[in-house]
Amino acid sequence: MNDHSSLTIRGIGAAPGIAIGKAFLLERGRIPVPRYRLFGEQAVAEECKRFEKAVAEAEADLEAIKKSIKTEFREHARLLEVQQMILRDPSIYDESLRYIKEERTNAQLAVIKSLRKAKELFNSLSNDEYAKSRIADVNAAGDRVIRILAGQNHTNLEHLHERAVIVAHDLSPADAIQLQAGRTLGIVTEIGGSVSHTSIVARSLGIPAVTGVENAARLISNNDFIIVDGRTGIIIINPGESELRFYTNRQDEISAYLKQISRHAHLPAQTSDGHRVSAEANIEAVEEIVAAKDNGAEAIGLYRTEFFFMNRVELPDEESLYRDYHDLAELMAPSQVTIRTLDLGAEKLTSWCPTLEEANPALGLRSIRLCLHYKEIFKTQLRAILRASAVARNIRLMLPLISGMEEIYQARRIFKEVQAELSAKRIPFDEDMPFGAMIEVPSAVAMADLLAQEVDFFSIGTNDLIQYAIGIDRSNEHVAYLYEALHPGVLRFIKQAVDAGHEAGIPVALCGEMAGEPLYVPILLGLKIDSFSMNPVALPRVKNLIRRSSMKECCRFANQVIHMRTASEIEQAVSKMVMRKFPEEFHVFDPNWTGNSTLAVPNKSGS
Ligand code: PEP
Ligand code: MG
Repeated sequence: MNDHSSLTIRGIGAAPGIAIGKAFLLERGRIPVPRYRLFGEQAVAEECKRFEKAVAEAEADLEAIKKSIKTEFREHARLLEVQQMILRDPSIYDESLRYIKEERTNAQLAVIKSLRKAKELFNSLSNDEYAKSRIADVNAAGDRVIRILAGQNHTNLEHLHERAVIVAHDLSPADAIQLQAGRTLGIVTEIGGSVSHTSIVARSLGIPAVTGVENAARLISNNDFIIVDGRTGIIIINPGESELRFYTNRQDEISAYLKQISRHAHLPAQTSDGHRVSAEANIEAVEEIVAAKDNGAEAIGLYRTEFFFMNRVELPDEESLYRDYHDLAELMAPSQVTIRTLDLGAEKLTSWCPTLEEANPALGLRSIRLCLHYKEIFKTQLRAILRASAVARNIRLMLPLISGMEEIYQARRIFKEVQAELSAKRIPFDEDMPFGAMIEVPSAVAMADLLAQEVDFFSIGTNDLIQYAIGIDRSNEHVAYLYEALHPGVLRFIKQAVDAGHEAGIPVALCGEMAGEPLYVPILLGLKIDSFSMNPVALPRVKNLIRRSSMKECCRFANQVIHMRTASEIEQAVSKMVMRKFPEEFHVFDPNWTGNSTLAVPNKSGS
């Protein structure tokens, strides 16, 4: 192997870890699409039947894949339901039939035309990452039908017999959930971002992934030897000996380090000088409790309930919500679970909830605003949560995107109405269930002293707080460089919210991605965060650093940092601190760390 022949390309680091191995190019290949006109009513009727049969077959395929998914990844089956929904969506199904009947086009062409129209509609609605991932779903669903019509089987990843790094233009959720963690060393895709479905699945399977790699499928050939760094987004094609040695060593170091710290993941999150905090998990589905517990979660600090509402054709009823919350409470008891009420809107869309034409959906009718607008939906959810609270009295209720007192008053009024209705029917619930607010917008920070008198706890949602504090759209690559978790303004907001909460005697959690970034542990401890809630896989590393930190030292450090003027000054201080105190953590994961590597949204070139 020659060092000079290697090629380095970059994308977005979507799931951490290093993969080294042969590339398996998932080439669906273009299917030739015949174009012909149908003559006579009988030909039209037969073509309609052929189309309907192909859709039914595609649905059955998806159903079979759903059944084959291992129990621990069942939540991802919902992603397949999205494709099933797309197949039956009038904009695809009825529209394709219309093309066949009215324009007398053959079925494949009819599907292509209706797909094109649906994608144009998606593009015109939004250009955010979530909408883009929906376009991938539309493509995947359409591709399946077109292949069936052409008499070709859909590419099936089960044909992957060797351990390999999968390289694809796009990997649909249906493909991603078929990935066998043992056989799939890594994933590289040309499109998709850090919140695309493929990234979500890759992270929970522990498969390193890099997305958004322009021309990956052209630059990488089948059987090329490649290195994928899912943290930095670097891909090296045909690496030289020294590169290979470097990444093999890194891979060994990472797994040895993780193995070593995982042994202590179940110990309490307590600093070396006896300050106790709580290390908790963020989950989107009850099934993730297994991973949360395995990684040492002391509680569920954020249950994102909207995922149960998404990816389904109808609004879930109270009974199904109750069962979900009941199971969550029972499985985690006696530990606490914080159930966040519906945080729909902006990038989180559903087919059953009417979406408005909004110029700025992130500033629109989303989250708690949407719940207060559609009061019955909110009440149904509250009823289900309250009923489930009787199981083990371990549920906390949390309201997202609170911007001021009025929303708390209104939500509390509705909450009391629901309690009164349940009491009248003698349905038991936990009368002392804590009622909390997320701090995600600047006005909530400004009002934190008064809000703290109305609620039982705060949880700081830094994913949104950073976005709204700095006034940038996370999905806009032109301002991605401004998405700085360590911006002094963001840190001051965090401090203000924590201090206001503590002044009023209530605990303050942090449940944004920042909580799962080990490098931020000293600052967040020093700012006196009480609970850190994060992606379950981040728990062992964060807990390890918490246990090895001195609270006294962290407070001193945070005190210095809070007076610094720029994010880069703070980043340097953080690097120095972590490098000095936790050299293995720094060395193993971030030899070239330059600040916000995991939280920033890199642009296309990954720079
Ligand atoms: C946040 O905004 O930090 C948060 C935890 O909520 P979400 O990521 O679900 O918007
Ligand atoms: Mg949020």
